[in-house]
Amino acid sequence: MFKKSIKAYEDAKVVIPGGVDSPVRAFGGVIGTPPFITKGKGSYLYDVDGNKYLDFVQSWGPLIFGHCDKDIEKAVIKTAKLGLSFGAPTELETELANEIVEMFPHIDKVRFVSSGTEAVMSAIRLARGVTGKNDIIKFEGCYHGHSDSLLVSAGSGMATFGAPSSPGVPSDLIKHTLLTEYNNLEQLEKCFIESKDIACLIIEPIAGNMGLVPATQEFLQACRELCTKHGALLIFDEVMSGFRASLHGSYGINNIEADIVTFGKVIGAGMPVGAFASRGEIMAHLSPEGKVYQAGTLSGNPVAMAAGLVSLRKIKADKKLYDKLNEKAVMLTSGLQKVAKKHNIPLQVDTRGSMFGFFFCEESPKNMKDVGKCDFKRFATFHHEMLKRGFYFACSQYEAGFICETMSKKEIKATIKAADEVMAGL
Ligand SMILES: *Cc1c(COP(=O)(O)O)cnc(C)c1O
Repeated sequence: MFKKSIKAYEDAKVVIPGGVDSPVRAFGGVIGTPPFITKGKGSYLYDVDGNKYLDFVQSWGPLIFGHCDKDIEKAVIKTAKLGLSFGAPTELETELANEIVEMFPHIDKVRFVSSGTEAVMSAIRLARGVTGKNDIIKFEGCYHGHSDSLLVSAGSGMATFGAPSSPGVPSDLIKHTLLTEYNNLEQLEKCFIESKDIACLIIEPIAGNMGLVPATQEFLQACRELCTKHGALLIFDEVMSGFRASLHGSYGINNIEADIVTFGKVIGAGMPVGAFASRGEIMAHLSPEGKVYQAGTLSGNPVAMAAGLVSLRKIKADKKLYDKLNEKAVMLTSGLQKVAKKHNIPLQVDTRGSMFGFFFCEESPKNMKDVGKCDFKRFATFHHEMLKRGFYFACSQYEAGFICETMSKKEIKATIKAADEVMAGL
């Protein structure tokens, strides 16, 4: 049933390292062949073998209205016909910036880039430029793209200073990154004692890159207070949670104002877009107004802006959108938990808006160490068996899942029914 995908994967591996352009796509976490996709429609993906899957990945978040939404498709085609890129300003950029600014009282200006990685990398440069300081605080299990100073993993000793998590990253660069445990206030306070040179603290306020592990209200509050007290900038990386967890991202849930917010995924609706945003006085440091340099040939690409613009306007037009998405997310996760319980399988679940997560473990994970204790073998079997039945879940327990607007309750019921069957054999 995966015959053509297996062949396509072999062919890809000849000319593309590992056969993929982003590592997680290789299904390494579950040891399988990734289906090669030919098209998507609504809630479904189709592969080269003609298999059809209910898609809980949605391109890792961007597609809140599912595949081939008619309105987004129309805007993209219309804009593409006028030219793909100009390297000059268009009004579409201002329009999309306005849509974002309108949602957050603490954001006045937005700069568009082409990926989440670029957004975060630029936000950190801006924070360093504004504060004149060098060190950054990052949490274990939060992913902020693949730029050098953020590829850090826990070092050997007790030190908060981490080690490069990838060859090619000089440890000289990493020495400015303090790595600490998510949701651990005591360790965070230690960072501010250890370094007097902290430019910024970067956090996924609703972490979606170690599975779904939200920060507690108290922890985010402490991040805010410590940054203010020590003259560091607080960066919320909402590349995933922005316009996914709620209309106002984590702000709509925790009501905490970051100094800089990064976006990506949903604001491009499937096109390559990222953005970072802040108050006017901070953004004034950015070139050409200020001295902090940042640029991009394809930044604010008109086709990408058009896709994002229609998507955000559709989101805003439906006042009940996030309630409806969350209702389906809860229906799915509570259903999974119920069938797991029936088969005596410990399963922890959580949702934030259209984001959901589930872990095969005894207790709800609070940080990366907890996630590491989950049953990965069981997850791999679950994943594989669900895929065979036509349900496409993220291929790793370290990833969040996503509900899209076109998903019906009937489809979710079918998912739970299949999960019941699968869990009986786990
Ligand atoms: C996806 C993601 C990124 C990286 O975005 P890319 O577009 O893949 O570069 C950064 N931060 C968070 C929180 C993400 O989920």
